[in-house]
Amino acid sequence: MENVLSKSSVDELQRSLSGSLIRPGDAEYDRARRGFNALIDRRPAVIARCVNADDVAIALGFAQAYELDVAVRGGGHNPAGHCVSDGGLVIDLSGMRRVAVDAKERIARADGGATWLDFDSATQAHGLITPGGVVVSTGVAGLTFGGGIGHLTAQYGLTCDHLIGAELVVPDGTVVHASAGENPDLLWGLRGGGGNFGVAMRLEFRLQPLQYVVGGHLVYRGEGVREALRCYREVVTRSPRDLSCQVALGVDQSLIPVLEIFPCYTGPEENPEELRSLRAAPGLIEDNLRRHAFLDQQRLIDTAYGEKRHYWKGHFVREIPDELLDELLRRIVALGRPPGGIMIESLHGASKDADAPPGAVGFRGAAFNVSLMAVWKDPALDSEQIAWARESAAAVEPWSFNGGGYVNYMQADEPIERLRATFGAETFDRLQKLKQRYDPRNILHRNQNIPPN
Ligand SMILES: Cc1cc2nc3c(=O)[nH]c(=O)nc-3n(C[C@H](O)[C@H](O)[C@H](O)COP(=O)(O)OP(=O)(O)OC[C@H]3O[C@@H](n4cnc5c(N)ncnc54)[C@H](O)[C@@H]3O)c2cc1C
Repeated sequence: MENVLSKSSVDELQRSLSGSLIRPGDAEYDRARRGFNALIDRRPAVIARCVNADDVAIALGFAQAYELDVAVRGGGHNPAGHCVSDGGLVIDLSGMRRVAVDAKERIARADGGATWLDFDSATQAHGLITPGGVVVSTGVAGLTFGGGIGHLTAQYGLTCDHLIGAELVVPDGTVVHASAGENPDLLWGLRGGGGNFGVAMRLEFRLQPLQYVVGGHLVYRGEGVREALRCYREVVTRSPRDLSCQVALGVDQSLIPVLEIFPCYTGPEENPEELRSLRAAPGLIEDNLRRHAFLDQQRLIDTAYGEKRHYWKGHFVREIPDELLDELLRRIVALGRPPGGIMIESLHGASKDADAPPGAVGFRGAAFNVSLMAVWKDPALDSEQIAWARESAAAVEPWSFNGGGYVNYMQADEPIERLRATFGAETFDRLQKLKQRYDPRNILHRNQNIPPN
């Protein structure tokens, strides 16, 4: 009866770990099981707060011996709630957040549980960056493994393009390295294939010099929003290499459209032509664009952790013609109250470079990522909110780039066909073979799962 989880077996696990265990009833338990998305409310049997590779190997071995479902927790932001499972074992890396910077070699080494705030604070102390995500409490590993879109995508490409090495504990407990010289196919898989192959202890990134940007946000309201969206589209379609730009479309309580544009400009001018065009668009009610430190740009967007319910669904699209803009403007009022928002991320610039490091990401050719993000508080609204996101995503689908979505934003209910479309059949097949090599029993399946083949 080895696989019956008893108090004594959990006590034994605690004694063998350098880190700590959190169990139901412990004072920390409710905080430790909480993720970003309040829609997900799961109660793991045990949370192993690991502090080194041995801990992770022991936790993986224990979970397999007692047939416990394994979840891996980095920053806890995945909207699908992959970092926590009912009755399972959580490998919690939140105690492993060190980021070491070799400024001379322009390399950063981040522990597997580091957040972007940890990373940006460490690298900016040397005036260096890697393009990361826009909310600094997000985990570095989780974001990178899905691709990584943010304030510097046009200038430097995807986050995973800067990943040059990783140290992983794979489910059989061995430590595996990935770099250009060692297991390069694994490095390829980590650049977009998610947390499918192992638990990352350390990630190594190439850094670039950058300290100041012209950023902030522009807010538009009312009838001008349609024209402001068109202006945004024209600006990014010119593909400025020194301007990344994301937008969030919402409505206020009176269902009047409100558009926020978040430009991040790194060129030589104070007020370049692209920003002048955006500022001249109709409906502008707020303009706080300014030159500021990159860390201030990274702090622009913040969202409460674990307080609101989220259901996101989206498509990479080939283009955003007026018909699609009008569809989005219809969808944002369709619920009769604010549904959350619609985010548009432009993928122009460096993420399209032919000499980008090879990786599994399948969306380089898309023009934009359009995400329909239902956000609410009242559980009674669950089905309506979820239906809004699904119906809105269906309305965007005719413009879809490849039928797939962004693995970093997907919920857990996406069918495997959608995941295959996200990568393309050939890449998906290659990822499945990689999964077969490193995780043949699919122990790490709480992710956008690539089943072994
Ligand atoms: C508010 C918010 C803002 C976001 N902003 C951006 C953005 O700007 N750009 C973008 O591209 N994405 C963004 N995302 C999406 C985010 O990158 C993904 O959801 C990502 O999976 C979150 O990683 P995490 O470590 O925080 O999450 P967790 O929920 O802790 O982990 C998610 C999954 O990542 C994997 N994982 C995490 N750490 C490790 C590790 N060390 N080793 C192996 N696997 C690991 C596991 O499979 C885990 O299940 C955002 C999400 C939220 C909620």
